[in-house]
Amino acid sequence: MNKIAQIFETLDYGPAPEGPDQANAWLESHGRAFGHFIDGKWTKPGTTFASDNPATGKTLAQITDGTAEDVDKAVKAARAAFKGWSGLSGYERGKYLYAIARAIQKHARLFAVLETMDNGKPIRESRDIDIPLVARHFYHHAGWAQHLDREFPGHVPYGVCGQIIPWNFPLLMLAWKIAPALAAGNTVILKPAEFTSLTALLFAEICERAGLPKGVVNIVTGAGETGQAIVAHEGIDKIAFTGSTEVGKAIRAATAGSGKGLSLELGGKSPYIVFEDADIDSAIEGLVDAIWFNQGQVCCAGSRLLVQESIEERFITKLKLRMASLRVGDPLDKSVDIGALVAPVQVERIRDLMQRGLAEGAVVYEPDGAIPSVGCFLKPALVTNVSPANTLVAEEIFGPVLVAMSFRTPEEAVALANNTKYGLAATVWSENINLALDIAPKIKAGVVWINGTNNFDAAVGFGGYKESGFGREGGREGMAAYLKPVWEKDLKAATAPKAAAPKFDNPLDNGHLDQTAKMYIGGKQARPDSGYSRAVYGPNGNLVGEVGDGNRKDIRNAVEAARGALSWGNSTAHARAQILYFLAENLDYRRDEFAERIKAQTGKSGTAEVAASVERLFAFAAWADKYDGAVHNPPLRAVAAAMVEPIGVMGIVAGPDLPLLGSIALIAPALAMGNPVVLVPSETAPLSVTDLYQAIETSDVPNGVINIVTGDAASLAKTLAEHDGVDALWFMGSSQASTMVEKASITNVKQTWTSRGLGYDLTDRQKFEGDYFLAKATQIKNVWIPYGA
Ligand code: NDP
Repeated sequence: MNKIAQIFETLDYGPAPEGPDQANAWLESHGRAFGHFIDGKWTKPGTTFASDNPATGKTLAQITDGTAEDVDKAVKAARAAFKGWSGLSGYERGKYLYAIARAIQKHARLFAVLETMDNGKPIRESRDIDIPLVARHFYHHAGWAQHLDREFPGHVPYGVCGQIIPWNFPLLMLAWKIAPALAAGNTVILKPAEFTSLTALLFAEICERAGLPKGVVNIVTGAGETGQAIVAHEGIDKIAFTGSTEVGKAIRAATAGSGKGLSLELGGKSPYIVFEDADIDSAIEGLVDAIWFNQGQVCCAGSRLLVQESIEERFITKLKLRMASLRVGDPLDKSVDIGALVAPVQVERIRDLMQRGLAEGAVVYEPDGAIPSVGCFLKPALVTNVSPANTLVAEEIFGPVLVAMSFRTPEEAVALANNTKYGLAATVWSENINLALDIAPKIKAGVVWINGTNNFDAAVGFGGYKESGFGREGGREGMAAYLKPVWEKDLKAATAPKAAAPKFDNPLDNGHLDQTAKMYIGGKQARPDSGYSRAVYGPNGNLVGEVGDGNRKDIRNAVEAARGALSWGNSTAHARAQILYFLAENLDYRRDEFAERIKAQTGKSGTAEVAASVERLFAFAAWADKYDGAVHNPPLRAVAAAMVEPIGVMGIVAGPDLPLLGSIALIAPALAMGNPVVLVPSETAPLSVTDLYQAIETSDVPNGVINIVTGDAASLAKTLAEHDGVDALWFMGSSQASTMVEKASITNVKQTWTSRGLGYDLTDRQKFEGDYFLAKATQIKNVWIPYGA
């Protein structure tokens, strides 16, 4: 049989190799040894490590292992460049970003080939997805630079940003970090991952050739220790990290109390839900993209298939058939579907996880057929017969391994989908748009794709819920992550209110009847678990009243009550607004009494504070149905609905001063956006808040939406910070206690806001009646909805 006849027989692909010559020529031009790119210049290679091609095992180049001194030099260069760069007009900065975008497009093929050689991903992906998205990011952010003053008035860049990225999308992650940072006027030090530094170094050369002012972009290569040096450097104002949840938590702990801005894009274990009415063939093609894109080394990989029981058998049979036609092999071959994993250690890690899963009862299917004997290759794998506790279901595998489970009802699908510590992405397949749009908001994930998967665009934010991190990259919210209000830079240390010397030392001395204000938990007044109370003293040390001395158990009960009230976030914004107006009205009705109480605790007239509290409630009632999402129109046949969602249960610890407004100013935005709260009011003047119970009860606030625990602010804050049932925590207090809160919050990667002992003046309507707290009380979910018949 001649060759053509054979081809007709097998219908197999022939070889279609992409040439490595240009990439090799570029590597040769650098002598296959690289230093860092600092202050617009290349340093001499120092102590180096090899960067290998994972498909061949051959070394591509030697990369310098960055030291703390290298990082320090880069920070100094970035600091020196900051004034000039941030001082340019947005138009000028935009022109540089535009020039970079053009240069990337011009050299797209070189970038794609180099990326594939360094990382092992199929050339089809680096050529058609990674590099075009990189260029798109720089174009898009050139536009944000242009309109920065108009779109973000009163905001300034952080300063010097330290950026640390993983190896799975080396250049794309660089673009996601550098483009918005530069557009906002920051300067950067970026560390690529040890396995994949080459395209970042090629990018540095592009910056050099684009005439980017020296010091604006610095690339320091190295491994985890170089990353640690960046995180620890005092001259850095913001850390942006993408990588594993484990390292993300370490970075949260290391930056606690430093005042550095922080965004964390962490791991995932994303559900891929297929309903019985889905277009099954499309869903299978989508699944191939979801889990075998980039060998499954994708943070948002659809690695957990949840398929409706009625179609499970048919779906799995078809899936196996499709898996058998996936081509694993040379990543530079244009008709290869699955390339090489990034490094041998990664292959070993995946094999170990598979062994554990198998030992726990999983069944693994891998298609027949050979894979290359040299290089880091694995076959696509489908894992069945698993329970939710199986290691392969619970852990992020970061490889070409799909685990499949089934469900019967939409409710069960949602429960299974959310049964994970992660919350990065999800996919929903159904021809019933009503069902799909009903499910999307119920899934706790930052991105939901309907009838599609792995869609990305620079205009559409990307980022996680829960332990998948916080902060967004892309879109308006991604830009906001690189800016801060100008006034925050000038905050001075808060002056602590003078504590009056108490007249009573012995708790038995007060001689009153028991009028201890109770806690307020789940819509009921509750006695403190400790059985102790705390005295509240007036300015002269006179006893004004007593409150319960809350402890861990009270917090635990309050969090449980708040979790039971999470449906507050599903009530309509209009309904939430009505309740906040009602609360304001009921407070206003008793303004004299509240003003008296403030005076008794502080010695100062409380009239203005009560009026401000009423007004603040009105302000956020008004915001409830106006702080809204957007619809993006990315260059794909889809729209992306950016939905503003509550974060979940919020712990709020008010500062010592402003007995009433100090709490109202913080809970009002949280409540308006749909978050149930556990509030710890002013430690020294809590009675204005404990007086609120009646107003809360008569304002139709559902039980569990506002829970109040009085007591020692720092120790209650610590309990809230450590509690996995609390999704976000705001704390006003000393810098020391703020550090403790940030550190303790790592358990479930809580979003925290702390005042760090600074004088946030909550009476300032201009600053605090707008989006400052609204943004912190919400997270954005982007729901991608395709169109076209
Ligand atoms: P790691 O967390 O191990 O590494 C990420 C980066 O951090 C690398 O540059 C690494 O250096 C560096 N690093 C390692 N230790 C430290 C440290 N203690 N302090 C500072 N920096 C450190 O992740 P991987 O590289 O293994 O990447 C895979 C992970 O990234 C997965 O969990 C994946 O889900 C996540 N990811 C998340 C994305 C998102 O947008 N949410 C996108 C892409 C990936 P080096 O590698 O050189 O040692």
